[in-house]
Amino acid sequence: MPLYEFFCDTCQKEVSVTQSMSEHANGAACPECGGRNMRPLVGPFFSKTSRKS
Ligand SMILES: [Zn+2]
Repeated sequence: MPLYEFFCDTCQKEVSVTQSMSEHANGAACPECGGRNMRPLVGPFFSKTSRKS
């Protein structure tokens, strides 16, 4: 399953969440605090887009 990186606003730290695509579409719950104040981390490793020029 894909690993997603989030920043938890509650824990104030980055967390990694393994979830399926369908789960990802529904958002993520923090594995540390169970909260849903999660922001997806979009970094260099996630710069692959499906954009075709
Ligand atoms: Zn948290």
